[in-house]
Amino acid sequence: MADKTLKGKIGVTTENIFPVIKQFLYSDHEIFLRELVANAVDASRKMQALASSGDFKGELGTLKVSVELDEKKRLLRIIDNGIGMTEEEVDKYINQIAFSSAGEFLEKYKDQLGSIIGHFGLGFYSAFMVADKVTIDTLSWKEGAKAVQWTCDGSPEYDMKAGERRERGTTITLHIDEEDKEYAGKGRIRSLLDKYCKFMPIPVVFGKKTEWKDGKSVETEEDEVINHIEPIWTKAPSELKDEDYQKFYRELYPMEEEPMFWIHLNVDYPFNLTGILYFPKIKERMAIDKNKIQLYCNQMFVTDHVDNIVPEFLTLLHGVIDSPDIPLNVSRSYLQSDANVKKISTYITKKVADRLEEIFKEQREQLEQKWDNLKLFIEYGMLSDEKFCERALNFALFKNTEGKFFSYEDYRKAIEGSQTDKDKKVVYLYATDKEAQWSGIEAAKNLGYDVLLMDCELDAHFVGLLESKLKDSRFARVDSDAPANLIPKEEEVKPELSEDDKKALDELMKGALPEGNEYLVEARNLGEDKAAVLITRSEWMRRYRDMSALGGGMNFYGQLPESFNIIVNMENPVMKKIWEDREGNATLLRQVTDLALLQNGMLKGKALAEFIARSEELLK
Ligand code: ADP
Repeated sequence: MADKTLKGKIGVTTENIFPVIKQFLYSDHEIFLRELVANAVDASRKMQALASSGDFKGELGTLKVSVELDEKKRLLRIIDNGIGMTEEEVDKYINQIAFSSAGEFLEKYKDQLGSIIGHFGLGFYSAFMVADKVTIDTLSWKEGAKAVQWTCDGSPEYDMKAGERRERGTTITLHIDEEDKEYAGKGRIRSLLDKYCKFMPIPVVFGKKTEWKDGKSVETEEDEVINHIEPIWTKAPSELKDEDYQKFYRELYPMEEEPMFWIHLNVDYPFNLTGILYFPKIKERMAIDKNKIQLYCNQMFVTDHVDNIVPEFLTLLHGVIDSPDIPLNVSRSYLQSDANVKKISTYITKKVADRLEEIFKEQREQLEQKWDNLKLFIEYGMLSDEKFCERALNFALFKNTEGKFFSYEDYRKAIEGSQTDKDKKVVYLYATDKEAQWSGIEAAKNLGYDVLLMDCELDAHFVGLLESKLKDSRFARVDSDAPANLIPKEEEVKPELSEDDKKALDELMKGALPEGNEYLVEARNLGEDKAAVLITRSEWMRRYRDMSALGGGMNFYGQLPESFNIIVNMENPVMKKIWEDREGNATLLRQVTDLALLQNGMLKGKALAEFIARSEELLK
């Protein structure tokens, strides 16, 4: 090539590739910097490899990547002292391969480009998203190599001539175009470097360190290195202490509370993956922040949308995953069907389950302490991931209304004796609200039963799942039936009433209850010492309602009027009296139905005032 300028036409099939690049990748212009810095880092690491293999015997120097900005001239430079390129290499990698493959790529994926953006690194030529002219000045490490300068102004034509560069490495110079002048701003470049290059493995320098002097910030002589070249996920877990993990978490999420636990991922076969996942404190569904896991590829930030790479419930975790084996230049639908991605997803799920099981076995007390903040995550995982569910049955905990914790197995053993019903099902009693269901809880305890506290938002769905997983089991909320009937031990003898009597009782009771609800009146023999009237809500109707409130495709139930079971205890002496003389005891009937309403927190406002007045009258 000597000293004359070589003009060539880039091998592109599309007439002019740059408008296409700009148009399709509009929303993601900013990734150009990551791509160029990543290329510079690659070139530096290749240099390192050549030196350590002995192929390169010269002076390696301090490898670094410098990003320089001239705001006024809108010039941005990415400078490395890596391997550089010879004339042949520029021709091969930049003129031939790069451009022609981009042409093919765009041709092939032009319908799907929208979904690829963000996952696809466009490489060197992404520079043309923000620049109207790009220059490469490069000198290869190879002995006798000559410096090359390559320039292209965005048309498919380039200039290639002898360059001036005297030191090994490459400088890429971008003339930022008018439209993208935000990238000629120091603040913008700094924030992009922080976002994409924070953990790259070669020092990335941007400007000088500043210090406070005489009340103002002044530049020092020292380079400002913006990255940590050895983030802790690249180290062996045995080298790290709890403080290291906590410190790293604070670095990633300065605004978050301390994490509860963490998992260090480290696998090199059959795929390569490292990372650290943290369990944040999860209090309620509304507060969950997804998109907190950052995905890296060889310490280069790729995305914080990992939805297609880890199972959905794991997106509740925080942390980083670094894997060169996740295909990045493909569409989302492809990702989901990729065998490697499936393996990775299975591996991560398994690791999370392993870790929780380990905590269950070795740090049971800690698990109990943190359970309230962990349970939503675990229940969500169990509901949404079959494999995780099978594992979690071994380490998930039950908490009863007294605040005591049990493993599923221990709990079963504890209640089996007293809480097996006539159909040989073990009945798990639960309450969703300790205050509101207090009388039901007490009544159940007085019968020698234990009551679980299931007050998590997902529990309406979760009890259904447990019934299918725990064999011969049934869940019943403490207010779903008369206490003595929650766990029927033998067939109950019902009062004998004629059809006419049943109708009369139905009308009698409905007349005494507030309008607007559905009532199912039933005569029962619950014993002399039990209340005259009991109001319960059918376990099933309530579950459907709760689920439709959560949004589970059962909104039909949400629209039905509230429905209650009215249990009339025909053995109660007051009830007997009312039943014998209905007209003469109208006040008494009101009184017993109001008591039942009161017990369920359903007596309010005017009705409550009337009840009080009536009670005072009766006491006279
Ligand atoms: P990719 O990095 O995906 O291979 P690029 O278009 O970014 O695609 O780069 C094409 C090739 O150009 C690289 O593989 C590398 O060989 C060469 N290259 C790019 N930037 C540099 C650099 N700063 N130093 C040395 N070689 C480089």
